Amino acid sequence: MARHAVTLIPGDGIGPECVAATVEIIDATDVDIDWIERHAGERVFKQGIASGVPQDTIDSISETRVALKGPLGTPIGYGEKSANVTLRKLFETFGNIRPVRELPGVKTPFSGRGVDLVVVRENVEDLYAGIEHMQTPDVAQCLKLISAKGSEKIIRLAFEYARAEGRKSLACATKANIMKLTEGEMKRTFERIAAEYPDIESWHVIIDNCAHLLVRQPEKFDVIVTTNMNGDIISDLTSGLIGGLGFAPSANLGNGIAIFEAVHGTAPKYAGKNVINPTAVLLSGVMMLKHLGEFDAAADIEHALLTTMTDGTLTGDVVGYDRGVSTTDFTKAVKANLGRRVDGWKVRVGKPIKMPMISRNQDFRIPTNKEVVGADIFLQSSLTPLELGPILETISERSVLRLKMISNRGTKVYPDGNTNIDCVNHHRCRFIVRDGGVATMQDALDLAREINTSHEVCHVERLLRIDGVDAFTKAQGED
Ligand code: NAP
Repeated sequence: MARHAVTLIPGDGIGPECVAATVEIIDATDVDIDWIERHAGERVFKQGIASGVPQDTIDSISETRVALKGPLGTPIGYGEKSANVTLRKLFETFGNIRPVRELPGVKTPFSGRGVDLVVVRENVEDLYAGIEHMQTPDVAQCLKLISAKGSEKIIRLAFEYARAEGRKSLACATKANIMKLTEGEMKRTFERIAAEYPDIESWHVIIDNCAHLLVRQPEKFDVIVTTNMNGDIISDLTSGLIGGLGFAPSANLGNGIAIFEAVHGTAPKYAGKNVINPTAVLLSGVMMLKHLGEFDAAADIEHALLTTMTDGTLTGDVVGYDRGVSTTDFTKAVKANLGRRVDGWKVRVGKPIKMPMISRNQDFRIPTNKEVVGADIFLQSSLTPLELGPILETISERSVLRLKMISNRGTKVYPDGNTNIDCVNHHRCRFIVRDGGVATMQDALDLAREINTSHEVCHVERLLRIDGVDAFTKAQGED
């Protein structure tokens, strides 16, 4: 029998209790795992390592290629970056798989409807690239980056995952109606690739409607693929459908590397009390066993877990902390039930996932023609748009670029702008090439330098036309 090496990160808060329970149950199966314990998160931040992930943890995962981790605490709104996000990004685990299913004994408003769905969340791009800047002391900006390659990888992974799990339908949930270039990239990629998977029903849904439908008709969904932030939010919603975060596992998958963890965090108020539900980490362990090709052990554990719950052995998050069994008693019960088969509850067997192999070239999509047709020059200014516009028209008189309009937080305010807008001191000044010609980035920079002698330029963005199509969106109200 194969021996597997797995990096084990106990994590913070309730993490060590959930992880210990999972290891105990997996070790009670026939699977032979060499657990290599490493650390990340709070204790590492306290050692002064700003990433929260020390080198020996990185080295271990690089070697084992598989990790099981407990949740890691992150300072909120200040200080260090999330060690979780760091791990996902360091190992390019671009796909986050978050399944939820109805479970025995867990009463919810949705009980009896057979909720059994998976959110496949893009895991390394989008707003979670975490590229933020104060554009002015008043105005913060976060870049939402969605790449063609990143979209292709996650969409292909979602289709392959659906096939491996024997699932029938894949919904792509985006906000492409508003963010036509970023979220639209995901939607267009989905529609193109769907043609290669005729065995899977594919459909697009706007993310807010997806949230609404998940509450009204959760049984309508099978697999949902979506961008990073959408996926983060709706996968917490889906865990709510089946009884809470205590039951929601996840896998972070990259090419040749995989990190398994619960969706939940460190729940610090329960740490060390032996009351929490270890199921989410245990089911993450089940996903890990499938990844390792140990399908029989994965099924054995799932049967034992469902049997335990069918018997009415439940933790405090389900039946109240005065009545629930302790974490250790729950663990013992699952262990004791290994070998039993549950009645009336389906255990999905699954097959290995065929990970998409996609070019590692940085230039993923190569256009035949790319022109600079203008520039958005962002200024910090307390002048009104009606004061600022004529000044910029005068400054740009000798440039190949002319002022087309000014917008404030995306709405046109000059010329003929909307006077209802409560402007802030951050103006997007859109210059386009005179007479429909073309310009260069140097023209944009020269103009920005000229403007910057009297006004504070905070950002310059080229306006491109790629293969004859404008590669930028219009402001609200712009013609
Ligand atoms: P959380 O730790 O997930 O806890 C939220 C609530 O969910 C808990 O108060 C508890 O609900 C319930 N819960 C979560 N896990 C449970 C379990 N295993 N058993 C029973 N109940 C459970 O979310 P948070 O309070 O927002 O975050 C705390 C810290 O965790 C933060 O530092 C955050 O950054 C971090 N975090 C880490 C990860 C990760 O490592 N992947 C993910 C999310 C958050 P009740 O209060 O209703 O009993």
